[in-house]
Amino acid sequence: TRTQDETNLPSAAKKDMADYLVKLEKQFTLTPQRMRMIVDSFIETLERGLTAKGQEVPMLPTYVFGWPTGKEKGSYLAVDLGGTNLRVCHVELEGDGKFEVTQTKYRLTEEQKHADAQGLFDFCAECLDNFVKDHFGDEDGKVELDEPIPVGFTFSYPCEQDRIDHGVLIRWTKGFGAPGAEGKDCAELFKQGLEKYVHRDSQKVPVKLVALINDTTGTLIASSYVDPATRAGIIFGTGCNAAYMEKVANIPKIKDLGLPEDAEMAINCEWGAFDSTTHETLPRTSYDVHIDETSNKPGEQAFEKMIAGLYLGEIFRLIMCEMIDEGILFLGQETYKVEKPFVFDTAFLSLIESDTTDELLTVTGLFAHFFALDTTVAERQFMRRLAVLIGTRAARLSACGIAAIVSKQGLLDDSTEPAKTIGIATDGSLYNKYPKFPQRLEEGLVDIFGEKGRAIKTYHAEDGSGVGAAVIAAMTKARKDAGFA
Ligand code: BGC
Ligand code: MG
Repeated sequence: TRTQDETNLPSAAKKDMADYLVKLEKQFTLTPQRMRMIVDSFIETLERGLTAKGQEVPMLPTYVFGWPTGKEKGSYLAVDLGGTNLRVCHVELEGDGKFEVTQTKYRLTEEQKHADAQGLFDFCAECLDNFVKDHFGDEDGKVELDEPIPVGFTFSYPCEQDRIDHGVLIRWTKGFGAPGAEGKDCAELFKQGLEKYVHRDSQKVPVKLVALINDTTGTLIASSYVDPATRAGIIFGTGCNAAYMEKVANIPKIKDLGLPEDAEMAINCEWGAFDSTTHETLPRTSYDVHIDETSNKPGEQAFEKMIAGLYLGEIFRLIMCEMIDEGILFLGQETYKVEKPFVFDTAFLSLIESDTTDELLTVTGLFAHFFALDTTVAERQFMRRLAVLIGTRAARLSACGIAAIVSKQGLLDDSTEPAKTIGIATDGSLYNKYPKFPQRLEEGLVDIFGEKGRAIKTYHAEDGSGVGAAVIAAMTKARKDAGFA
């Protein structure tokens, strides 16, 4: 039986919607064959990144040497400048793979992301200062400590490092654009902030920056601290990226360091940059091109822009706007509210996909409440299909990246039965909150590898930007104590 509002929809519009869906399905669907092609090109790209500096996917050496033992201990601070929030954490590592975290989150405004960079790093220092006073200070906020607390700075943007407590920002990503940071050592800028705030009114220096880390590296290490099956650390959040552990012998570009051949170092892939220059591999649609060209960083992060939480809602919105222009959606209604860039949050896609009722009443509410739009059942069903297409494409492209890392390391070559679990520690809003994203990832991996792909297990990671930063700070200290530079 038909519902009232469906009968009211002009049949021409319904047909146009169906035609659109057919067209979009073609553009957004990735066949297993296409995925395997992407994986092959991805593997080559990863390898190229390891050979020389300055490649599109830069495969950044992190100066995190090998896996944690799980026995790392002590009290650490972590400052996490991600894509959305700023967070300060105190992490107590207990030395048996266990830990305790206390944290405070601070909001970042759009202005802060685009105003002078020193101001942004000063703000990080100011928040750290408040946190330290609250947690370690006496009633007047005076902090007296025997030794400075080591700080890990989780700065989740591509940085070229030549030691662990330094990092030159290659480019901002995730919509940041603060001038005065690209090409500069951001650990140094943060230290200047520390001088202004934390060290200002204290004779004894209460904190010391010991490591600058990427969230993916943190995820890799934090998860390995509790689960040795971990093979990669991946973030699917506002941005997207991966880190894994590589043999020094396979990293030609750091040959000059004279490290032992059997040593290992974590690599921050910065895979979001994949296929950004030639656009030979990824099946970009006109919507992806539009997002890129109107972004503050055109020509960059092509892979990330098709996957990450910052962009999926916008892809959805652009398709809706095109259909509004063609008179297919929301006929006769005021649509200006939905025509503003980036008003359609990726969380809305999650919400739409979560509604499994026939009438899709959550979707009705969403459009009415946020955009003052009435929807027909047919429109809502279309929206749901569209969300599935965009979300599924993101997951399947992500599976290609994971498959490349797994293949590159030959992790599936082992013919042990039953197959050893290949642990992919994963974090970020898209993985944690988007329904079916994890399941679609794993289905994608089976499409690429066949049944043996089931040995690859993704799971929710430990807090890489907090706990991971602490474990890395502890590993760095242990290395120093053992006499390494
Ligand atoms: C950044 C990476 C980061 C990822 C996830 C990307 O935009 O370039 O450094 O790991 O977002 O936060
Ligand atoms: Mg984060």
